[in-house]
Amino acid sequence: MARPAVAEINLKNIQANFKLASSFAPAGKTLAVVKANAYGHGAARVAQHLAQDAEVFAVACIEEALALRKAGLQQPILLLEGFFEAAELEVIAQEGFWTAVHRQEQLDQLARSVLAKPLCVWLKIDTGMHRLGFSPEQAIKAYNDLLNMPHVKQVVVMSHLANADDSLAPGASVPSQVAQLPEFFLNPGIELSIANSAAILSQPTALRHWQRPGIMLYGSCPLAIANQHSNSLRPAMTLKSQVIATRWVEPGESVGYGGRFVAERRTRVGTVAMGYADGYPRQAAEGTPVLVDGQRTQLIGRVSMDMLTLDLTNLPDADVGSEVEFWGEKLSANEVAAHCDTIAYHLFTGVTDRVPRTYI
Ligand code: PLP
Repeated sequence: MARPAVAEINLKNIQANFKLASSFAPAGKTLAVVKANAYGHGAARVAQHLAQDAEVFAVACIEEALALRKAGLQQPILLLEGFFEAAELEVIAQEGFWTAVHRQEQLDQLARSVLAKPLCVWLKIDTGMHRLGFSPEQAIKAYNDLLNMPHVKQVVVMSHLANADDSLAPGASVPSQVAQLPEFFLNPGIELSIANSAAILSQPTALRHWQRPGIMLYGSCPLAIANQHSNSLRPAMTLKSQVIATRWVEPGESVGYGGRFVAERRTRVGTVAMGYADGYPRQAAEGTPVLVDGQRTQLIGRVSMDMLTLDLTNLPDADVGSEVEFWGEKLSANEVAAHCDTIAYHLFTGVTDRVPRTYI
């Protein structure tokens, strides 16, 4: 029998989540963000499944886009980080990719290029994230420069939100970021793209000309406080494995590396085939929840490379072969992430290639 660690991906749930995202912008457009291997869910399979619903896909870089072409995807694919060298531009044009342009050097390289096919360019403006993008002062000139390039056929203006998930977070708020956009870009003739998942689920419709949902497609709520919309998301990834050994330890005995867990009472330990080399976070705290045959229990001891250990004392029916769910439809990745000092994005993208993805 194969090692039982698998990530089961529910493609229908991803499709339902995409439809939910699209429903927020009936007059706008919604692309599907499938970068980082579709947040660990398998970009080729996810994109193929969404191909009837999504007109455009988005990835980080050209390598990810080429992998999707190889898998047969025909739609435009937006490169969110843009291109890293001018030589990529010819491939971008040939393959029908769209590219972000976020700094002057890229604009200059684009101006100097001779391309066989015209491009769609997304001009990125920094409205407060302070990571990538032209400043609002530079942006109008950059926009006009792009419009004047014969090999640029369409320009979309984009910006990325720093705190759409948490209105109480310090730093740039959504209204302050939107207010940074020069009036010039609020002309209805200009295509704008601002909303990520958190904004789609929580902000007014004005931001929704081109929506860019990522995490919500995978069924995880990015909002600090869930709302009625996020409650209807359907989790897409169930990370699971099985108990491969059990034993009793006596009071005072420890379990695992470093003896972090020391039994206070007789404790039945279940050892599971899942470790940090599979992407289960090593920093998971004592007490992180897991499901064994659908019943809640918790992690004890340190996560090791290939295995981790659970408390089975109160689950007398659990035994070798019992199914263990780490996150999924019945245990939210957000709840687990909170015990690991991280976020669901990190959990999903951290699942390694050693874990086979199965699709339902
Ligand atoms: N747009 C850009 C530029 C991004 O970098 C990302 C993700 O990081 C997204 C959209 C999707 O964000 P989310 O997964 O929060 O919906």
